[in-house]
Amino acid sequence: MRLYQKNLNPLNHKDVGLVACHECDFLHRVKSLPAGGKAFCVRCGAFLYKHIPNSVDKALPLYLAAFILFILANVFPFVSLKLGSNIEENVMVSGTLAFFRYGMGELGILVFITGFLFPFLVITGWLYVLLPIKLGYRPWKMTKVLSMIQRVSPWSLLSVFMLGVLISYTKLLDLATVIPGVALFSFAALLVVSTAAHANLDISQLWQEMKFKPTTNRSGNTAAERDMIVCHGCTLLIPKVDLDGTLRSECPRCNNPIHSRKPNSITRTFALVVTAIILFIPANVFPVMTVVQLGRDKTNTILSGVIELIEEGMWVLAMIIFFASIVVPAVKIIVLCFLLVSVKRKSNWRTRDRTLLYRVIEIIGSWSMVDIFAIATLIGLVNFGGMSSVIPGIGATFFASVVIITIFATQSFDPRLIWDNSTRLK
Ligand SMILES: [Zn+2]
Ligand SMILES: [Zn+2]
Repeated sequence: MRLYQKNLNPLNHKDVGLVACHECDFLHRVKSLPAGGKAFCVRCGAFLYKHIPNSVDKALPLYLAAFILFILANVFPFVSLKLGSNIEENVMVSGTLAFFRYGMGELGILVFITGFLFPFLVITGWLYVLLPIKLGYRPWKMTKVLSMIQRVSPWSLLSVFMLGVLISYTKLLDLATVIPGVALFSFAALLVVSTAAHANLDISQLWQEMKFKPTTNRSGNTAAERDMIVCHGCTLLIPKVDLDGTLRSECPRCNNPIHSRKPNSITRTFALVVTAIILFIPANVFPVMTVVQLGRDKTNTILSGVIELIEEGMWVLAMIIFFASIVVPAVKIIVLCFLLVSVKRKSNWRTRDRTLLYRVIEIIGSWSMVDIFAIATLIGLVNFGGMSSVIPGIGATFFASVVIITIFATQSFDPRLIWDNSTRLK
């Protein structure tokens, strides 16, 4: 039985040595930070590491609270819709089931994964890791669970889901009586609590137990120049070649696959961007949903839906949908094309700003899913047959594909390529 706690606190950053920036590969000597302090890359401005004293003690109760709120948000009705004497109650998975009912199961699965399964895996995953650590033990298969959390986190879209629900809620206000349920309030609290939990988590403390001293006699300002690779799983710097001369393919500390640059980054990103451009056309031409009201159908594409909202005087809503569904995917495609061309031409122009552009599209990318979540809520809730119902359209599937593919494209682009030809700060 091995005690884990004594190795965990306090974190001595001096022991860690060097850290390489994930976005530009620039090397930094790790320094002790004041409580709550954050370190950023001097070259590109990317976040490097932070120091939260007693991080486990702070994050664990918050994740426990998040777990309870998540259960509440899924057991109780989200919103209820009252139309005449009919009442339709909506739980969190109603949208998923409704997509299956209309023969669009692929969208149902997408909404289920991003709005329910992955957020659940992230919360329970952290509880699985933090609870034993708090009790003084190292959890079984900790590295596997941590890398699972890291993989699913970008696809855990709780806040986007919440915005989608609020949009559909506002849309329905003039159609029928909308009654907010217990789950809606639990969900709002869940967002606050899980954000706080994430902010209080200092992941570097979890890796202290498995120290690994990187050694290399090469000099240089970037990991690549020193023949080293930074692990994206645990931030460890690893020599490219092992002591016995073999090339390393996985991190000795967290077992994640490692590579100096993302494999075939340019080709893969290019192929995904082209696919996204092609799908962007049907996504905007075909209807995303049909609203049936008193036997009359009204079919809407993304753009005609926005125009209708403006005509109804719902400016804020129209702007949110327009921005999330049209501007964001278009900007992502344009920025990725620009980054691909500039890297291919070995451009030295405004490297820091281009990295910032990449960071922006990485952050805003998933917000495009808001329209899909709004449609999911509407079709799950407005289900009164010929009197009033909302039916999803094929445009929604094309649109969701654009969102997913542009997120994959952003993930497959390696921002370090922007810096590889740069002469700045070398
Ligand atoms: Zn950097
Ligand atoms: Zn690692």
